[in-house]
Amino acid sequence: MHNLSSKSYRLPLQNKLVGLSVMIIIGIVAFVLFFYHSFSTSLEEEKKAQSKNFIESALGIVQHFHQLELSEKLSRADAQQMAMQTLDSATYGDDGYFWINDSEGKILVQPYMPNLVGLNMTNWADSTGKYIFQEFDREARKGGGWVSYTWPKLNTSKEYPKISYVAHYAPWDWLIGTGLYLDDMKSNIFWAVLRTSGVLLFGFLIFIFTTVVIINYFVHQLSELSVRDALTSLYTKRFLKEIIPTLLNHDKVTGHHLAAIFIDLDHFKSVNDIHGHDNGDNVLQHIANVMNKNAKQSDYCMRYGGEEFVLIGFFDTEMSAVNMAEMIRHQVSELRFMSDDSEFGVTLSAGIALHNSHSNDSFEHTLKRADMKLYEAKTAGRNRVAV
Ligand code: GH3
Ligand code: MG
Ligand code: MG
Repeated sequence: MHNLSSKSYRLPLQNKLVGLSVMIIIGIVAFVLFFYHSFSTSLEEEKKAQSKNFIESALGIVQHFHQLELSEKLSRADAQQMAMQTLDSATYGDDGYFWINDSEGKILVQPYMPNLVGLNMTNWADSTGKYIFQEFDREARKGGGWVSYTWPKLNTSKEYPKISYVAHYAPWDWLIGTGLYLDDMKSNIFWAVLRTSGVLLFGFLIFIFTTVVIINYFVHQLSELSVRDALTSLYTKRFLKEIIPTLLNHDKVTGHHLAAIFIDLDHFKSVNDIHGHDNGDNVLQHIANVMNKNAKQSDYCMRYGGEEFVLIGFFDTEMSAVNMAEMIRHQVSELRFMSDDSEFGVTLSAGIALHNSHSNDSFEHTLKRADMKLYEAKTAGRNRVAV
């Protein structure tokens, strides 16, 4: 059985859709890269602003205990002890913590590495030779600021780049700071951005894919409408003109003979006159069914005009084209139609011409020859095939 939908006509617009999709995907990737860059910059800024806010809170805590000292509810030593304990346990996030140094460089609080508490940092240079405490002291006394340096990670002796925000609590002459390891921050940001942009990209791709599928569906429907005959769903004469160059190319490659079978119903005017136009239409639909049923997958069945049909296909020999035409003629002559209470049948005549791919003959001329053969079949008495 010939499958009409398997051989659908593609408009050039549909091919352009593929190009359009590729362009849209490139656009999305460019957008995601841009988004990645700006999002990671703003996340980095946000992380730094967060550290600064934590230091503001830490200063608030210290100030609270200082107030208790001023109101003589606590001695200075107790107030400082309690402030240190509070900040020692005030960790945040995965490994965020506060450290405190006194103005001489002594480490007062270091929850990450408690063994360092009591050590003096004054002569302590990091792996790049930077005297960290002096940097802390300078930035803190400026009213708070950022210091970059290297610092070991827990359970390793290797130092990693770090930035800390440091503030000065003047009444007790303390330096209070909190820091971020740059590699941890960058990898956190990397994964956060990747997750967000991945979700965005996935959403975009689904949207584009759905849009392209929907557009393609409607374009396909439109293209089918533009090349199919409304009554019989066979291809139109207009489509024949478009498909001919492809068929002629194929003809050269395969060496099979491209043939045109021209079909015209016999005395169809009387069918309309006697049984009415609607019954005539019904006959035309049945002729189309018979053609489709007999056509090979690679054949094209067309409604060429009112009650004229053309089948174009590749045949090994002239005889196989004749057999195909005879089969259609025979099956159509066997059809029975009901009109009111009477039954009637129709016959057709067909003319066949083989296209000569080795001459410069046009396919229009082949069609004309098939039409002339059809005329011969008509004059010879109708209900026959001429070749
Ligand atoms: P011949 O055997 O010589 O071909 O005779 P014919 O009557 O078939 O030829 P003619 O060309 O004189 O008439 C063709 C008729 O086909 C005329 C018209 O009424 C009918 N026809 C054309 N298109 C349609 C259609 O879409 N529906 C119906 N019902 N009839 C159509
Ligand atoms: Mg006719
Ligand atoms: Mg006719």
